[in-house]
Amino acid sequence: MRIFAASLATETNTFAPIPTDRAAFAASYYPPGAHPATPTLCSAPMVAARRAAREGGHTLIEGSSAWAEPAGLVGRAAYEALRDEILGQLQAAMPVDVMLFGLHGCMVAHGYDDCEGDLLARARAIAPRAVIGAELDLHAHLSTQMVESADVIVAFKEFPHTDFLPRAEELTALCLRAADGRIAPVASVFDCRMIGGFMTSREPGRSFVDRLQAMEGRDGVLSISVIHGFQAADVYDVGTKVLVYTDGDAAAGERLAERLGRELIGWGGAGVPVHLKTSEAVAEAMRMPGGPVVLADRWDNPGGGVAGDSTFLIEELLKFPDMPAAVGALWDPVAAAFCIAAGPGAELPLRFGGKAAATSGRPIDAVVRVRATTPELLIPFEQSQVSLGAAASISIGALDVVLASGRAQTFNPAVFTRLGIDLAAKKIVVVKSSNHFHAAFAPIAAGIIYVDCGGPYPPDPARIAYTKIRRPIAPLDPNPWLG
Ligand SMILES: [Zn+2]
Repeated sequence: MRIFAASLATETNTFAPIPTDRAAFAASYYPPGAHPATPTLCSAPMVAARRAAREGGHTLIEGSSAWAEPAGLVGRAAYEALRDEILGQLQAAMPVDVMLFGLHGCMVAHGYDDCEGDLLARARAIAPRAVIGAELDLHAHLSTQMVESADVIVAFKEFPHTDFLPRAEELTALCLRAADGRIAPVASVFDCRMIGGFMTSREPGRSFVDRLQAMEGRDGVLSISVIHGFQAADVYDVGTKVLVYTDGDAAAGERLAERLGRELIGWGGAGVPVHLKTSEAVAEAMRMPGGPVVLADRWDNPGGGVAGDSTFLIEELLKFPDMPAAVGALWDPVAAAFCIAAGPGAELPLRFGGKAAATSGRPIDAVVRVRATTPELLIPFEQSQVSLGAAASISIGALDVVLASGRAQTFNPAVFTRLGIDLAAKKIVVVKSSNHFHAAFAPIAAGIIYVDCGGPYPPDPARIAYTKIRRPIAPLDPNPWLG
């Protein structure tokens, strides 16, 4: 069989102040054949396709892979150039039996509210009879155009996203079986008509996802994906949906999707933990025994498209100058460059953080000591390596802060340890991450607290000024599923 694989992905926060241009894709752009052996989150289908081709004796034609760190709206020219590059590669690869796309599912460009639907529809037009498969992040906007253009869509099941490679392997296997005529995948979608989501690092999300996986491969159920949605985007398809593929039994798929969707609706807010306000969170952490207590600065997570430079928790921690604490990674390329130029051991007056938007808080002015610097801070995240660019660690009394020139969330304690910070000696560690930190930090944490510092990501969907979202939808409308 002839397989074509490519990847084009970012997560667009349409409310974020950082524009996404072609250069934003440069750090994780790989032309055909150049993709590394390990996946970068959304490019897992490329890695899975290589393995399937090797083991099954198929011919793989690789297209390009491109990923940009989540940020604001993608420029029209950047999207069209990358899309047309991949479609041109597909055209040149024809005829193909299977296409595998590594997508995110909530990429928004100027003039394109549904980039993935647009890409898949154009791929379908090039190869009307090929099997089209796509992997999505669960933080996606599942559109009718995506579902109608693809034969199989599989989303990550885990949040934190620890399963992007196994899901890509499932997608690849399903598409190959469909191309062989062994299965006939039929999609069934249930729209929960709610803006929500849940974490699989806790209950009830953990058991729910375990149950979904036990249902797959039985009674004609091929695949179940829960699209949590991504609330920080003003597009029509924002919200939670359940996507079931059965082997030719649409009615059974619809019943199952609705049953699972209504279960999610019934949870209310149980899928996510309580979030404390800034000062409450620090006080609660200080009351807890042992350390380090990890404070997740949930809404200043670069992985959600915002800057990652807010200073609210730093201001609060500076009220307790003798308490050993660490904050990372704060995005500030200018301050990082100053510290790298000054060098380890130097003391200097530094202004850092609080620059990208009014919601980032005020910049911090302090005399700091440079602890350590690195030309590139690389950290592991599951099977991938993530770069935070050139970085420095600084100390202000007992508080250490990691300043990075690149934007990426704090996936792993290596953000700190690779710059000489001993987390075991800290009472409080602040991470700029929503929940991806959980897998690597939980084993070393004396406790975990989710913090709502009020911005810059829009944390409360009821207060977001949506103009394009379909209505009714909760929490904007009460009981939308009752009609
Ligand atoms: Zn995600």
